[in-house]
Amino acid sequence: MKKVKRIKARRWLVILGEVIGLILCLCLGVFLFYQKQISDLTKLGYSKIASEKILFSKHKDYIMKLGENKTVNKAFESEDYIEDNLDNYSKIKYFDQKDLISNINKLLEIGYSNSDINIILSHGTNESVTEFTKHERVHYLEEYFEYDYAKIENYDRYVNYSDQFGSSEEDTIIYINLNIDKEDYVDPFIVEEFSIDMLVNRHRSLKEDYVPSDLVTVDSKYASSNDCQSSRIAYNAFIEMYNKAESEGYQLVINSAYRSYQDQLDIIDTYRNAYGQSYVDKYVARAGFSEHQTGLAFDIGSRNSNIFADSKEYEWMLQNAHLFGFVLRYDKRYEDITQFRYEPWHYRYVGKEIAKYLYEHNNMSLEEYYVLFLDR
Ligand SMILES: [Zn+2]
Repeated sequence: MKKVKRIKARRWLVILGEVIGLILCLCLGVFLFYQKQISDLTKLGYSKIASEKILFSKHKDYIMKLGENKTVNKAFESEDYIEDNLDNYSKIKYFDQKDLISNINKLLEIGYSNSDINIILSHGTNESVTEFTKHERVHYLEEYFEYDYAKIENYDRYVNYSDQFGSSEEDTIIYINLNIDKEDYVDPFIVEEFSIDMLVNRHRSLKEDYVPSDLVTVDSKYASSNDCQSSRIAYNAFIEMYNKAESEGYQLVINSAYRSYQDQLDIIDTYRNAYGQSYVDKYVARAGFSEHQTGLAFDIGSRNSNIFADSKEYEWMLQNAHLFGFVLRYDKRYEDITQFRYEPWHYRYVGKEIAKYLYEHNNMSLEEYYVLFLDR
Protein backbone atom coordinates (compact mmCIF):
# COMPACT_ATOMS: atom_id res chain seq x y z
CA MET A 1 0.00 0.00 0.00
CA LYS A 2 2.75 2.37 0.93
CA LYS A 3 4.43 1.73 -2.39
CA VAL A 4 1.23 2.51 -4.38
CA LYS A 5 0.77 5.79 -2.48
CA ARG A 6 4.33 6.80 -3.24
CA ILE A 7 3.87 6.05 -6.97
CA LYS A 8 0.65 8.14 -7.06
CA ALA A 9 2.36 11.04 -5.31
CA ARG A 10 5.23 10.92 -7.78
CA ARG A 11 2.78 10.96 -10.70
CA TRP A 12 1.09 14.05 -9.26
CA LEU A 13 4.45 15.71 -8.90
CA VAL A 14 5.24 15.00 -12.53
CA ILE A 15 1.85 16.44 -13.60
CA LEU A 16 2.39 19.50 -11.43
CA GLY A 17 5.84 19.95 -12.97
CA GLU A 18 4.39 19.66 -16.44
CA VAL A 19 1.65 22.20 -15.67
CA ILE A 20 4.16 24.67 -14.22
CA GLY A 21 6.41 24.14 -17.23
CA LEU A 22 3.50 24.73 -19.56
CA ILE A 23 2.53 27.94 -17.73
CA LEU A 24 6.12 29.17 -17.84
CA CYS A 25 6.29 28.42 -21.56
CA LEU A 26 3.04 30.29 -22.10
CA CYS A 27 4.31 33.26 -20.09
CA LEU A 28 7.54 33.28 -22.04
CA GLY A 29 5.58 33.10 -25.30
CA VAL A 30 3.35 36.00 -24.29
CA PHE A 31 6.38 37.97 -23.14
CA LEU A 32 8.26 37.39 -26.41
CA PHE A 33 5.14 38.25 -28.42
CA TYR A 34 4.72 41.46 -26.41
CA GLN A 35 8.41 42.37 -26.89
CA LYS A 36 8.06 41.86 -30.63
CA GLN A 37 4.98 44.14 -30.75
CA ILE A 38 6.78 46.86 -28.81
CA SER A 39 9.91 46.56 -30.92
CA ASP A 40 7.82 46.87 -34.14
CA LEU A 41 6.64 50.24 -32.82
CA THR A 42 9.93 51.49 -31.41
CA LYS A 43 11.62 50.59 -34.72
CA LEU A 44 9.10 52.90 -36.39
CA GLY A 45 10.25 55.73 -34.15
CA TYR A 46 7.77 55.58 -31.26
CA SER A 47 9.03 55.84 -27.71
CA LYS A 48 8.69 52.91 -25.30
CA ILE A 49 5.98 54.72 -23.30
CA ALA A 50 4.03 55.62 -26.44
CA SER A 51 4.43 52.10 -27.84
CA GLU A 52 2.99 50.52 -24.68
CA LYS A 53 0.02 52.85 -24.79
CA ILE A 54 -0.52 52.18 -28.48
CA LEU A 55 -0.53 48.46 -27.81
CA PHE A 56 -2.92 48.59 -24.85
CA SER A 57 -5.31 50.90 -26.68
CA LYS A 58 -5.31 48.43 -29.63
CA HIS A 59 -4.06 50.96 -32.17
CA LYS A 60 -1.03 49.05 -33.32
CA ASP A 61 -2.38 48.25 -36.79
CA TYR A 62 -3.38 51.88 -37.32
CA ILE A 63 0.08 53.07 -36.28
CA MET A 64 1.88 50.48 -38.42
CA LYS A 65 -0.04 51.80 -41.41
CA LEU A 66 0.59 55.43 -40.40
CA GLY A 67 4.34 55.03 -39.92
CA GLU A 68 6.47 57.45 -37.94
CA ASN A 69 4.57 60.47 -36.67
CA LYS A 70 6.05 62.69 -33.96
CA THR A 71 2.77 64.36 -33.04
CA VAL A 72 1.06 60.99 -32.55
CA ASN A 73 4.05 59.81 -30.53
CA LYS A 74 3.79 62.87 -28.32
CA ALA A 75 0.01 62.35 -28.00
CA PHE A 76 0.44 58.78 -26.76
CA GLU A 77 3.11 59.92 -24.34
CA SER A 78 0.86 62.67 -23.04
CA GLU A 79 -1.70 62.54 -20.25
CA ASP A 80 -3.82 64.80 -22.46
CA TYR A 81 -4.35 62.15 -25.16
CA ILE A 82 -7.95 62.04 -26.37
CA GLU A 83 -9.04 58.97 -28.31
CA ASP A 84 -11.39 60.87 -30.63
CA ASN A 85 -8.59 63.21 -31.73
CA LEU A 86 -6.17 60.49 -32.85
CA ASP A 87 -6.83 61.07 -36.54
CA ASN A 88 -6.31 64.83 -36.10
CA TYR A 89 -3.02 64.32 -34.25
CA SER A 90 -1.75 62.33 -37.21
CA LYS A 91 -2.43 65.26 -39.57
CA ILE A 92 -0.93 68.01 -37.43
CA LYS A 93 2.75 68.88 -37.75
CA TYR A 94 4.96 68.34 -34.75
CA PHE A 95 6.21 71.37 -32.84
CA ASP A 96 8.48 71.18 -29.86
CA GLN A 97 5.99 72.82 -27.50
CA LYS A 98 5.42 71.59 -23.98
CA ASP A 99 1.61 71.76 -24.09
CA LEU A 100 1.30 70.70 -27.73
CA ILE A 101 -1.33 68.00 -27.21
CA SER A 102 -3.52 69.89 -24.75
CA ASN A 103 -3.39 72.94 -27.03
CA ILE A 104 -4.36 70.84 -30.07
CA ASN A 105 -7.28 69.44 -28.07
CA LYS A 106 -8.46 72.92 -27.13
CA LEU A 107 -8.10 74.27 -30.67
CA LEU A 108 -10.08 71.33 -32.06
CA GLU A 109 -12.77 71.98 -29.46
CA ILE A 110 -12.99 75.64 -30.54
CA GLY A 111 -13.63 74.37 -34.06
CA TYR A 112 -10.37 74.91 -35.89
CA SER A 113 -9.48 72.55 -38.73
CA ASN A 114 -6.22 70.61 -38.81
CA SER A 115 -4.75 73.07 -41.31
CA ASP A 116 -5.80 76.03 -39.11
CA ILE A 117 -4.05 74.36 -36.20
CA ASN A 118 -0.91 73.86 -38.26
CA ILE A 119 -0.96 77.59 -39.03
CA ILE A 120 -1.49 78.55 -35.38
CA LEU A 121 1.23 76.27 -34.05
CA SER A 122 3.78 77.32 -36.64
CA HIS A 123 3.37 81.00 -35.81
CA GLY A 124 3.53 80.76 -32.05
CA THR A 125 5.48 79.62 -29.06
CA ASN A 126 4.17 77.27 -26.37
CA GLU A 127 3.09 80.31 -24.33
CA SER A 128 1.51 82.30 -27.15
CA VAL A 129 -0.40 79.28 -28.46
CA THR A 130 -1.63 78.45 -24.94
CA GLU A 131 -2.82 82.05 -24.65
CA PHE A 132 -4.47 81.85 -28.08
CA THR A 133 -6.55 78.84 -27.01
CA LYS A 134 -8.38 81.18 -24.59
CA HIS A 135 -9.37 83.35 -27.53
CA GLU A 136 -12.69 82.83 -29.32
CA ARG A 137 -12.43 81.51 -32.84
CA VAL A 138 -10.81 83.97 -35.29
CA HIS A 139 -11.49 84.29 -38.98
CA TYR A 140 -8.52 85.72 -40.85
CA LEU A 141 -5.86 83.15 -40.13
CA GLU A 142 -4.80 82.44 -43.70
CA GLU A 143 -4.73 86.11 -44.68
CA TYR A 144 -2.19 87.04 -42.01
CA PHE A 145 -0.33 83.82 -41.52
CA GLU A 146 0.70 83.18 -45.06
CA TYR A 147 3.61 85.35 -43.93
CA ASP A 148 6.21 83.37 -41.99
CA TYR A 149 6.97 86.25 -39.68
CA ALA A 150 3.38 86.85 -38.53
CA LYS A 151 3.01 86.08 -34.82
CA ILE A 152 -0.05 84.46 -33.33
CA GLU A 153 0.14 86.65 -30.21
CA ASN A 154 -0.26 89.74 -32.39
CA TYR A 155 -3.45 88.57 -34.14
CA ASP A 156 -5.81 91.07 -32.48
CA ARG A 157 -3.42 93.93 -33.06
CA TYR A 158 -3.11 93.01 -36.76
CA VAL A 159 -6.87 93.06 -37.21
CA ASN A 160 -7.37 96.28 -35.22
CA TYR A 161 -4.59 98.10 -37.03
CA SER A 162 -5.71 96.99 -40.45
CA ASP A 163 -9.33 97.98 -39.68
CA GLN A 164 -8.20 101.38 -38.47
CA PHE A 165 -5.71 102.27 -41.18
CA GLY A 166 -6.68 100.05 -44.08
CA SER A 167 -3.11 98.81 -44.51
CA SER A 168 -2.33 95.58 -46.35
CA GLU A 169 -1.77 92.42 -44.33
CA GLU A 170 1.94 92.44 -45.17
CA ASP A 171 2.46 96.06 -44.06
CA THR A 172 0.30 95.55 -41.00
CA ILE A 173 2.38 92.62 -39.80
CA ILE A 174 5.59 94.61 -40.20
CA TYR A 175 4.19 97.64 -38.35
CA ILE A 176 2.78 95.60 -35.51
CA ASN A 177 5.83 93.35 -35.09
CA LEU A 178 7.82 96.58 -34.79
CA ASN A 179 5.31 97.86 -32.20
CA ILE A 180 4.53 100.95 -34.27
CA ASP A 181 0.95 100.80 -32.95
CA LYS A 182 2.32 101.43 -29.46
CA GLU A 183 3.25 104.78 -28.02
CA ASP A 184 6.76 105.92 -28.94
CA TYR A 185 9.41 105.61 -26.22
CA VAL A 186 6.99 103.91 -23.79
CA ASP A 187 7.93 100.51 -22.40
CA PRO A 188 10.64 99.79 -24.97
CA PHE A 189 12.46 96.52 -25.47
CA ILE A 190 15.93 96.94 -23.98
CA VAL A 191 18.68 95.97 -26.42
CA GLU A 192 21.55 94.64 -24.32
CA GLU A 193 23.95 92.96 -26.71
CA PHE A 194 26.21 94.67 -29.17
CA SER A 195 26.01 93.18 -32.66
CA ILE A 196 26.36 94.67 -36.13
CA ASP A 197 22.70 93.85 -36.83
CA MET A 198 21.34 95.35 -33.60
CA LEU A 199 18.20 97.42 -34.01
CA VAL A 200 17.62 100.57 -31.98
CA ASN A 201 14.60 102.75 -32.64
CA ARG A 202 11.64 104.34 -30.84
CA HIS A 203 10.57 100.98 -29.42
CA ARG A 204 13.97 99.45 -28.78
CA SER A 205 16.39 101.36 -26.59
CA LEU A 206 19.80 101.12 -24.98
CA LYS A 207 20.47 101.56 -21.29
CA GLU A 208 22.02 104.71 -19.88
CA ASP A 209 25.31 102.90 -19.24
CA TYR A 210 25.43 101.12 -22.60
CA VAL A 211 28.76 101.67 -24.37
CA PRO A 212 29.92 99.63 -27.39
CA SER A 213 32.69 97.30 -26.29
CA ASP A 214 35.02 98.12 -29.18
CA LEU A 215 34.82 101.91 -28.99
CA VAL A 216 37.77 103.72 -30.62
CA THR A 217 38.68 107.33 -31.33
CA VAL A 218 38.43 108.27 -34.99
CA ASP A 219 41.58 109.76 -36.52
CA SER A 220 40.95 113.46 -37.20
CA LYS A 221 41.88 112.80 -40.85
CA TYR A 222 38.44 111.18 -41.25
CA ALA A 223 36.32 113.41 -39.03
CA SER A 224 35.28 117.04 -38.73
CA SER A 225 36.21 117.03 -35.03
CA ASN A 226 39.02 115.39 -33.09
CA ASP A 227 36.88 113.81 -30.37
CA CYS A 228 34.83 111.59 -32.64
CA GLN A 229 34.46 107.95 -31.55
CA SER A 230 32.87 104.86 -33.11
CA SER A 231 32.80 101.09 -32.94
CA ARG A 232 36.07 99.67 -34.25
CA ILE A 233 34.46 97.23 -36.67
CA ALA A 234 32.44 100.04 -38.26
CA TYR A 235 35.43 102.38 -38.22
CA ASN A 236 37.58 99.87 -40.13
CA ALA A 237 34.83 99.52 -42.71
CA PHE A 238 34.57 103.28 -42.97
CA ILE A 239 38.32 103.63 -43.62
CA GLU A 240 38.05 101.08 -46.42
CA MET A 241 35.14 103.04 -47.89
CA TYR A 242 36.88 106.39 -47.40
CA ASN A 243 39.98 105.18 -49.24
CA LYS A 244 37.96 103.82 -52.14
CA ALA A 245 35.97 107.06 -52.39
CA GLU A 246 39.17 109.11 -52.24
CA SER A 247 40.79 107.06 -54.99
CA GLU A 248 37.81 107.94 -57.19
CA GLY A 249 37.94 111.65 -56.32
CA TYR A 250 35.34 111.80 -53.54
CA GLN A 251 35.98 113.37 -50.13
CA LEU A 252 33.97 111.87 -47.28
CA VAL A 253 34.04 113.10 -43.69
CA ILE A 254 32.45 111.87 -40.47
CA ASN A 255 30.50 114.68 -38.81
CA SER A 256 29.25 112.56 -35.92
CA ALA A 257 29.38 108.90 -34.89
CA TYR A 258 29.13 107.48 -31.36
CA ARG A 259 27.00 109.50 -28.96
CA SER A 260 26.85 108.54 -25.31
CA TYR A 261 23.61 108.74 -23.35
CA GLN A 262 24.84 112.01 -21.84
CA ASP A 263 25.71 113.38 -25.30
CA GLN A 264 22.13 112.68 -26.33
CA LEU A 265 20.75 114.55 -23.31
CA ASP A 266 22.99 117.52 -24.18
CA ILE A 267 21.80 117.52 -27.80
CA ILE A 268 18.17 117.46 -26.68
CA ASP A 269 18.87 120.50 -24.47
CA THR A 270 20.56 122.34 -27.30
CA TYR A 271 17.64 121.75 -29.68
CA ARG A 272 15.09 122.58 -27.01
CA ASN A 273 16.77 125.93 -26.33
CA ALA A 274 16.99 126.71 -30.02
CA TYR A 275 13.65 125.43 -31.40
CA GLY A 276 11.41 124.55 -28.45
CA GLN A 277 9.97 121.36 -27.01
CA SER A 278 7.59 120.51 -29.85
CA TYR A 279 10.51 120.44 -32.30
CA VAL A 280 12.40 118.13 -29.97
CA ASP A 281 9.40 115.82 -29.56
CA LYS A 282 9.02 115.57 -33.31
CA TYR A 283 12.58 115.34 -34.58
CA VAL A 284 15.03 114.41 -31.85
CA ALA A 285 15.31 110.89 -30.52
CA ARG A 286 15.05 110.59 -26.76
CA ALA A 287 18.17 109.63 -24.86
CA GLY A 288 18.79 105.91 -25.16
CA PHE A 289 16.81 105.70 -28.39
CA SER A 290 19.46 107.07 -30.73
CA GLU A 291 21.21 104.64 -33.01
CA HIS A 292 24.35 106.72 -32.53
CA GLN A 293 24.76 105.15 -29.08
CA THR A 294 25.51 101.81 -30.78
CA GLY A 295 28.73 103.25 -32.25
CA LEU A 296 27.61 101.88 -35.63
CA ALA A 297 25.91 105.03 -36.98
CA PHE A 298 27.76 107.74 -38.90
CA ASP A 299 26.60 111.16 -39.99
CA ILE A 300 28.54 111.56 -43.17
CA GLY A 301 29.43 114.79 -44.92
CA SER A 302 31.28 115.94 -47.98
CA ARG A 303 34.50 117.95 -47.84
CA ASN A 304 33.33 119.59 -51.07
CA SER A 305 29.84 120.75 -50.11
CA ASN A 306 28.02 121.98 -47.03
CA ILE A 307 24.79 120.36 -48.07
CA PHE A 308 25.47 116.66 -48.27
CA ALA A 309 22.33 115.81 -50.26
CA ASP A 310 23.54 118.15 -53.03
CA SER A 311 27.07 116.75 -53.11
CA LYS A 312 28.61 114.24 -55.50
CA GLU A 313 29.70 112.28 -52.39
CA TYR A 314 26.03 111.73 -51.57
CA GLU A 315 25.46 110.17 -54.99
CA TRP A 316 28.59 108.07 -54.59
CA MET A 317 27.41 106.81 -51.19
CA LEU A 318 24.01 105.80 -52.58
CA GLN A 319 25.74 103.63 -55.18
CA ASN A 320 28.65 102.27 -53.15
CA ALA A 321 28.08 102.33 -49.38
CA HIS A 322 26.61 98.80 -49.32
CA LEU A 323 29.86 97.38 -50.73
CA PHE A 324 31.50 98.34 -47.45
CA GLY A 325 28.65 97.29 -45.17
CA PHE A 326 26.87 100.63 -44.80
CA VAL A 327 23.22 101.48 -45.51
CA LEU A 328 21.29 104.71 -45.75
CA ARG A 329 19.27 104.24 -42.62
CA TYR A 330 16.45 106.78 -42.79
CA ASP A 331 15.22 106.79 -46.36
CA LYS A 332 12.36 109.03 -47.46
CA ARG A 333 10.40 106.02 -48.73
CA TYR A 334 9.88 104.45 -45.34
CA GLU A 335 9.69 107.22 -42.79
CA ASP A 336 6.55 105.47 -41.51
CA ILE A 337 8.58 102.36 -40.67
CA THR A 338 11.75 103.89 -39.23
CA GLN A 339 9.68 106.69 -37.66
CA PHE A 340 12.53 109.03 -38.58
CA ARG A 341 12.33 111.72 -41.18
CA TYR A 342 14.65 111.37 -44.14
CA GLU A 343 18.30 111.89 -43.20
CA PRO A 344 20.49 111.73 -46.32
CA TRP A 345 23.66 111.88 -44.19
CA HIS A 346 22.90 109.16 -41.64
CA TYR A 347 24.54 105.85 -42.54
CA ARG A 348 24.60 102.72 -40.47
CA TYR A 349 27.13 99.90 -40.49
CA VAL A 350 25.38 96.51 -40.68
CA GLY A 351 28.14 94.42 -42.28
CA LYS A 352 28.54 93.57 -45.95
CA GLU A 353 26.13 90.65 -46.03
CA ILE A 354 23.08 92.53 -44.72
CA ALA A 355 24.00 95.72 -46.59
CA LYS A 356 24.13 93.76 -49.84
CA TYR A 357 20.77 92.15 -49.13
CA LEU A 358 19.11 95.46 -48.32
CA TYR A 359 20.62 97.11 -51.40
CA GLU A 360 19.50 94.28 -53.66
CA HIS A 361 16.00 94.41 -52.21
CA ASN A 362 15.19 97.95 -53.23
CA ASN A 363 17.03 99.43 -50.24
CA MET A 364 14.84 97.65 -47.73
CA SER A 365 14.86 99.22 -44.26
CA LEU A 366 16.75 97.60 -41.41
CA GLU A 367 13.42 97.43 -39.56
CA GLU A 368 11.88 95.23 -42.26
CA TYR A 369 14.98 93.06 -42.39
CA TYR A 370 14.74 92.64 -38.63
CA VAL A 371 11.12 91.50 -38.83
CA LEU A 372 11.85 89.11 -41.69
CA PHE A 373 15.03 87.50 -40.44
CA LEU A 374 16.17 88.48 -36.98
CA ASP A 375 13.07 88.61 -34.80
CA ARG A 376 12.77 84.94 -33.91
ZN1 LIG B 1 22.68 110.48 -37.39
